[in-house]
Amino acid sequence: MKKHNFNAGPSILPQEVIKKTAEAVLDFDGDGLSILEISHRAKNFQPVVDEAVALFKELLNIPDNYSVIFLGGGASLQFCMVPFNFLETKAAYLNTGVWAKKAMKEAKGFGDVVEVASSADANYTFIPKDYTIPADADYFHITTNNTIYGTELLEDLESPVPLIADMSSDIFSRPIDVTKYGMIYGGAQKNLAPAGVTFIIVRNDLLGKVSRYIPTMLNYQTHIDNGSMFNTPPVLPIFTALQTLRWIKANGGVAEMEKRNIAKAELLYNAIDNSKMFVGTANKEDRSRMNICFVMKDEYKHLEADFMKFATEKGMVGIKGHRSVGGFRASTYNALPIESVQALVDCMAEFEKQNA
Ligand SMILES: *Cc1c(COP(=O)(O)O)cnc(C)c1O
Repeated sequence: MKKHNFNAGPSILPQEVIKKTAEAVLDFDGDGLSILEISHRAKNFQPVVDEAVALFKELLNIPDNYSVIFLGGGASLQFCMVPFNFLETKAAYLNTGVWAKKAMKEAKGFGDVVEVASSADANYTFIPKDYTIPADADYFHITTNNTIYGTELLEDLESPVPLIADMSSDIFSRPIDVTKYGMIYGGAQKNLAPAGVTFIIVRNDLLGKVSRYIPTMLNYQTHIDNGSMFNTPPVLPIFTALQTLRWIKANGGVAEMEKRNIAKAELLYNAIDNSKMFVGTANKEDRSRMNICFVMKDEYKHLEADFMKFATEKGMVGIKGHRSVGGFRASTYNALPIESVQALVDCMAEFEKQNA
């Protein structure tokens, strides 16, 4: 049976990308060696990193005064590397979910942290809009897509201080204006690559301004100066990321990704909004195009486990909601075809017909 992969992360990758990766695991570059057993400094691996960086710059229109680097440690390591490198006295954070809160917690070890606004009291069902960013903050940190709660900031904010964004779960899902950001980072395992690589896009002039000692490995400048090769980078995830970047380019770039993502999200949100049985959890104006969260209305709540079973039998994978929201979450990342969303919508309609 065909599986429809709605996993939140690690998550679906284009079939072609998986195939190219499998080929390279057996024989990289026609060399007779697996990509798993070559040096990261091999002559034929450097072009992989170079092309990945070049495609990041091309697809996101990244200006020349920014660097792109690939590190290990996940987005979670960035929660402490960001303040280590940028927080001298004070930083501002927008609290829109668990990941935002975790980032804020780490920063508190480095200086004053101002929470400009929070939607915690509403279980993060919306993104706060009325707040003031302190003009004397060293930076303002946001999470553009809240993977767990299904809310997303779809505009590039104006900020009087450098804007730093965790884009783990919506990078490459729409065109962005990189010049509005001081730094963008994310774990690759939602919309780009398998787990193990973290991407960082940083404006060069922001570095080297804090007075503290920064351990070599935690200093962005180290990795910029060494082209992500200061130590052994995650070779295989970078290779797969490159295949995804080529796939995005061949499929019309981020503008086309956005079009497809809008179509997929509309299809599923319309089904939810027109259903007698299901209801969305996020405020409509802040709904995510990447993670679509919904539950059953109170009178049908007792049927949630039955629907899970029904959907699983029809090939739906990964639609169980995060424990802090409950219900269901369908992640509709770039690689998910609209046919899979249609299959889920059909499955919801069929279940409703049988049970409502
Ligand atoms: C998944 C996720 C993280 C955590 O990523 P790791 O790479 O596991 O550390 C952080 N932020 C957001 C928005 C995420 O979706």
